[in-house]
Amino acid sequence: MNKKGKVIQSKGKWYKVSSDSEIYDCRLAGKFRLDKKEVTNPIAVGDMIEFMLGDDGTGYIIKIEERTNYIPRQATHGKRGEQILISNIDRAWVIQSVISPRLNMGFIDRFLVTCEAYDIPGGIIINKMDLASKKAQEVMDDISSLYRSLGYPVIQTSTADKSSINHLAEKIRNETSVFIGPSGVGKTSLLNAIDSQLDLKVGEISAYSDKGKHTTTFATLIPLEIGGFVADTPGIREFGIVNISKPELSLYFPEMSDARENCRFYNCTHFHEPDCGVRNAFEEGKIDPDRYHSYLNILESIKD
Ligand code: GDP
Ligand code: ZN
Repeated sequence: MNKKGKVIQSKGKWYKVSSDSEIYDCRLAGKFRLDKKEVTNPIAVGDMIEFMLGDDGTGYIIKIEERTNYIPRQATHGKRGEQILISNIDRAWVIQSVISPRLNMGFIDRFLVTCEAYDIPGGIIINKMDLASKKAQEVMDDISSLYRSLGYPVIQTSTADKSSINHLAEKIRNETSVFIGPSGVGKTSLLNAIDSQLDLKVGEISAYSDKGKHTTTFATLIPLEIGGFVADTPGIREFGIVNISKPELSLYFPEMSDARENCRFYNCTHFHEPDCGVRNAFEEGKIDPDRYHSYLNILESIKD
């Protein structure tokens, strides 16, 4: 009997596969070959596969569906022999809090650039809204409208506000989600609020910039009660800006795509060049100043 499923964990030659709410131990069928896939692991966590279920209850993987996207394990995007940390992500969410720690737009913008570069839909969660003053609430609303206007969903949450948790749950239901954010913003609390059966320990869902905290880099998908999966990805610290060249950067700012057509130079970095369509658009108020400044900050951090 053949079944379809999703790889949620990989351990040596064995893969845990979720299929119709059951978990099966599967391995690769002997003759299984992947054509032209220049990756070290033929099967990655997140992959959609087909397997043949044996009498002993274990399965043989006979087919892998094409990946919609993936995050490489190392900072080697697009290079030969790269390993895949996790594949087929429906959305990666960056979590920030209003205060403690304060919302950091630069963090959000770097995150979104990485999402665009990896072809992963991005989204933003602003947590601890219960701690927002009236003024802070207005600022958060402005930030939310800005990113929504760029096409990114924004959800304001508070673990003290059940309706906001339900709203978030609706958004991630039946999807494979990655959550990324600095420590203390409430990643663990939010996921535990969405699914009380998770009972995640603090620090279990990895922080973006906690370098060296984890020694292993194996990703796992945790099934959610409401349907879907959340990724526990110790290697996610590689979700940084990697292997992006300066002229390429503006490709990952959606609001710059039209304006860059008007640049005199094809490899314009929209910083110092004459006749720059992006800078003109910025000066005409068509590109948000904070976003343009984030762009310049990221540009500066890229080595030539
Ligand atoms: P993580 O490091 O991102 O996983 O963050 P935690 O989930 O451990 O939360 C850090 C701290 O923020 C804890 O003391 C939580 O109780 C608190 N916290 C999380 N979410 C909220 C929220 O929505 N409102 C408030 N006031 N505190 C929160
Ligand atoms: Zn330009």
